[in-house]
Amino acid sequence: MKRRPLIAGNWKMHTTTAEARDLATAIAGTCVGVDDRDVLLSPPYTVLRDVAECVGRTGIIVAAQNVCWEEKGAYTGEISPVMVRAAGGSAAIVGHSERRQIFLENDEMVNRRLTGALAFGLTVILCIGETLAERESGDTFAVLERQIRKGLAGVGGEAMAGVVIAYEPVWAIGTGKTASKEQAQEAHAFIRGLLAAIYEKDIAEQTRILYGGSVKPANIDEIMAQPDIDGALVGGAALDAQSFGRIITFR
Ligand code: PGA
Repeated sequence: MKRRPLIAGNWKMHTTTAEARDLATAIAGTCVGVDDRDVLLSPPYTVLRDVAECVGRTGIIVAAQNVCWEEKGAYTGEISPVMVRAAGGSAAIVGHSERRQIFLENDEMVNRRLTGALAFGLTVILCIGETLAERESGDTFAVLERQIRKGLAGVGGEAMAGVVIAYEPVWAIGTGKTASKEQAQEAHAFIRGLLAAIYEKDIAEQTRILYGGSVKPANIDEIMAQPDIDGALVGGAALDAQSFGRIITFR
């Protein structure tokens, strides 16, 4: 089964309006002629519309970094899937480790965000991953299984067409430490096997699983050469158009 690669840039809490417009325009320039893979940009909410405008009709997907499950209401500080769509976005990240660790979002909340976003037609990138302590105590697979089962609770097989999984070992995010290609492939194969057990083999084979954690121009090619790795979720290196351009055009 050939899955279409997806390279996603997570800008986190970076870029003012002017910076975002420049970066999005430069990245769109590096994507010219790239049509055998998907590219996604996830800027802060405040510049979603600007980024959507700058990428125009290039086919680059614009995604929110998180999203609420309701259309509107008394949810101070939150942004609804309908608002994301109105601003030109068509996807959202949920469950990023920074949301889980710094803002104490648990699996139940991540599941609410995910199912809400799907219900309003957004594509969702569900982030999962173990901490260093969990890896060292041999709990990696148990943690991934819990995050997948709880994160996808109530999501039927058909809705999985709108779900992308991102495996991001917490110890590799922003640390310069990348999981070895063997460690990454092992986790991805485990996740795909779990999806086959929860749903069915076809759905597991069709679901894209991205790797995230210190992805750079220097390691993207070997990461993408792994059979169960279908793309990357890139933080730091996504803030530089030249580096991200090289990652997008992995070989
Ligand atoms: P990093 O971040 O590439 O800077 O490690 C990845 C992420 O948090 O999505």
